[in-house]
Amino acid sequence: MLFLNPELTLPTLGRSVEALRQKVRAFVADELSAGRLKPICNSWTEGCSAEFSQRLGERGWIGYHWPRSYGGQGGTAFDTLTINEELLAAGAPVGAHWIAARQSAPLLMRFGSEAQRREFLPAIAAGTQYFAIGMSEPDVGSDLASVRTRAERRAGGWVLNGRKVWTSGAHFCHYIIVLCRTAPADPKARHSGLSQMIVDLRSSGVTIRPIHMLDGNHHFNEVIFDDVIVPDERVVGAAGEGWKQVTSELAYERSGPERFLSTMPLIDLFLRRLAAGPAASGDSAAGRLLARLMTLRNMSLCVWGALGAGQSPVIEAAMVKDLGTNFERESLEIVREALVADERLADDTEIGALLAATLPLAPTYTLRGGTNEVLRNMIAKNLQGK
Ligand SMILES: Cc1cc2nc3c(=O)[nH]c(=O)nc-3n(C[C@H](O)[C@H](O)[C@H](O)COP(=O)(O)OP(=O)(O)OC[C@H]3O[C@@H](n4cnc5c(N)ncnc54)[C@H](O)[C@@H]3O)c2cc1C
Repeated sequence: MLFLNPELTLPTLGRSVEALRQKVRAFVADELSAGRLKPICNSWTEGCSAEFSQRLGERGWIGYHWPRSYGGQGGTAFDTLTINEELLAAGAPVGAHWIAARQSAPLLMRFGSEAQRREFLPAIAAGTQYFAIGMSEPDVGSDLASVRTRAERRAGGWVLNGRKVWTSGAHFCHYIIVLCRTAPADPKARHSGLSQMIVDLRSSGVTIRPIHMLDGNHHFNEVIFDDVIVPDERVVGAAGEGWKQVTSELAYERSGPERFLSTMPLIDLFLRRLAAGPAASGDSAAGRLLARLMTLRNMSLCVWGALGAGQSPVIEAAMVKDLGTNFERESLEIVREALVADERLADDTEIGALLAATLPLAPTYTLRGGTNEVLRNMIAKNLQGK
């Protein structure tokens, strides 16, 4: 048993899932040999290619388990998980559509209006429409209930004012889902009066400014809303339901394979190199990596299965994120140490280059999607039954 919760059991992946896995592997092999895919770590945040997303969309590999009427293939949640596992492990550039498919679409599927689902889901599945998450603000990250961005009522819609930070991909996305205050804060009910709105990033009054990463890359942004008009039909669900929506979204955000496979292209290369030579000291490092990977994958499968069955395993998702993102950070250290200690890897410039490109992003793993310290508070409170 991987979790205390007896409802989370390890599912068995059927033959059709494995057949799909082989198809994705064949596609990846073709992309690699055609030079259209250059494996990188963190490919779900750093690898953005609209062309690649569209090629996946043409195959039906984005939102595979969504209903056909919304652009999906009517598959299972495990089909989608399998496609994603293979693409992440290959270091494929899936970053353009990743957040829209992982988070925005399930949100709209669960809380959006029928008109919103019909407008946005098929374009997300086609790999042509991308969404950003507008939750964090200056001084507001872990404590989301204190967001200051606010929307005020006007005839037929809302006027949005405020500022979001760390907004991944806002510079190439079409829409952002903004968490904002639509009623004054009530100190006795801090989570009330919040709403989520779909905002067109090309609207008048939206300014997007880059925030550069440690390695100079442009991944996230500051997004400013200055009297932006948001029509009523762009509010997700009912005004005031934002907190319920945000907390349900987070289980999707925290439990997926991107929380332990971000460094997989490096691990994969490392393992292949070791397998090619005679046994030596680096083999124990390989064993440590593999044992943890397998356990994390099983935990993620359990949570994914529960999500697909309509449950909300928020605490278990937090556990996957905590253990998985720590593993991602430590995997870089394990490979780095082996690179120094194991003679077989002494002159391996390919591993060295991939490691060097990945290390500057390591501090972000345990922050993005909610910091691990805050998640541990949640887990501890749950274990105490509070
Ligand atoms: C790569 C990356 C991409 C991101 N993309 C997005 C995005 O697209 N959209 C978006 O909205 N946000 C995004 N974020 C922001 C991210 O969600 C926040 O950084 C995160 O929630 C933490 O908020 P903060 O930075 O304000 O830190 P703070 O909340 O100020 O926390 C600072 C430190 O204090 C600790 N801390 C805070 N509260 C507690 C507590 N109660 N108990 C114990 N420790 C505590 C934290 O663990 C942290 O170490 C991204 C972040 C990163 C790194």
